[in-house]
Amino acid sequence: MGLYIHIPFCRQACNYCDFHFSTNLRGIENTLKAMEREIDLRFLSAPIEQDTYYFGGGTPSLLPAKIISSLVDSAMKNAPLKKGGEFTLEVNPEDVNNESLSNWKKLGINRLSIGVQSFIDDKLKWMNRSHNSIEASTSILRAQDAGFENISIDLIYGIPSSSLSEWQFNVNKALEMKLVHLSTYALTVERKTQLFYEIKKGESKPLCDDRAEEDFRWYRNYLCQQGWDCYEISNSCLPEWRSVHNSRYWLRKPYYGIGPGAHSYDGGSIRRWNVSNNIKYQKSVGVNNSWYEEEFLEKRDIINEIIMTQLRTREGLDSKILGKWLSDIEKCWRPHLDAERLKKDEYGFWKLLDKGLFWADRIASDGFIP
Ligand code: SF4
Repeated sequence: MGLYIHIPFCRQACNYCDFHFSTNLRGIENTLKAMEREIDLRFLSAPIEQDTYYFGGGTPSLLPAKIISSLVDSAMKNAPLKKGGEFTLEVNPEDVNNESLSNWKKLGINRLSIGVQSFIDDKLKWMNRSHNSIEASTSILRAQDAGFENISIDLIYGIPSSSLSEWQFNVNKALEMKLVHLSTYALTVERKTQLFYEIKKGESKPLCDDRAEEDFRWYRNYLCQQGWDCYEISNSCLPEWRSVHNSRYWLRKPYYGIGPGAHSYDGGSIRRWNVSNNIKYQKSVGVNNSWYEEEFLEKRDIINEIIMTQLRTREGLDSKILGKWLSDIEKCWRPHLDAERLKKDEYGFWKLLDKGLFWADRIASDGFIP
C-alpha cells in the first residue's frame, strides 16, 4: 500500500496551475486537524503498514514544523511506513533551509521532490513562481549538504517565448547538480487558470506543440544517451532511482489519499476522491461518509486506464491485458503503426517509438474502448 497526503495550501498561485489549493494560510490548522481525523477514520479497524509515503500538494514544505510533525505522527500511528520505505516530501525552493531540512530528516523523510520548474529568472517570474533561480540552485545544494541523496526536481518545457537553448540550459544544470531523478512536464493550459485568461486576453502567447515537441525530443534522446532510465514519459532517473510511490500509479497498485481533493484507489475497481474544498472537507470529514465520492470501474474503464498509464512507460503495454478488445484496439492504432509512432515488440508489448512519445496521451486515447 501507499499513502498520499495532499496539503492544499500555497503561498501564491502559479499561472498554469489547476491543482486544488488555497492561498488562505489561516485555514491550515483546521484543515490539518480534519486530515488527522480522516487518517484515524480510514484506519479505524487496525493500522495498515505502508510501503511508501508521499506528501504532495499544494506546498507541503510551507507547513510549520509542529504541524507537519503532528501529521507524520498521526500517519505513523495509523498507517506505519515500513522500515526503509520511500518517504517523499514535495518542497518549494524558498522553504529549503538548514532548519527545515533538519526537521524533515528527523521526521524520516528520505526523498525530496523540489518544484524548481526553471533555472531562468524571467521564466519563473512569468509562471508567477514564488522563488528565483538562485533559490532554485541553493535549495538543491543545501538539501545535498544535509545528506539528502534521493532528490528529484520538476522542470517545465514548452513555455511560449522560450527557446530550445534555454531548455537545454535547464536540463544541463540539473545534470551538473548530480540529481538522481527528473520530472519534466510540458506546459498545458487548463481552464480557469491565470494563464488561460492571459492567453484569451492576448497578454501571453499561446502554446505551440512544435516548440514543446522540440524540447521533449531533445531531452529524451539526451538523457537516454547519458545512461538515464527514461522510465515514464514525464519521469527519468539514474539507474535504480525510480520513484517507488509514483510507480504505483502506472502499475495500478493501491493507495490511500488523504486530504481535500486527494484520490484513492483500491487496486481493483474502486476509485474514490475527496471533496476539493477545504471548508467543506473540514465540516464533512466523519459525517456520514459525505467528504468523498466513489466510482466503480467497469472492465472497459479499467482497460482504458491501463492503456493510458502503461503506454507511457518504458516497459510498454502488455497486449495480453487487452483481452477481447485487442483486435479493435489494434485497428484503431493502425495509422500510428504505419507512421512508426508505435510498435508491438516480439513479446507482445506495445511501445511508443521516437515519433510517438510526445503524443502518448493522444495515441492512447485513440485506442480507448468506447
Ligand atoms: S506551488 Fe505547485 S501546487 Fe502551488 S500553485 Fe504552484 S504549481 Fe500549483
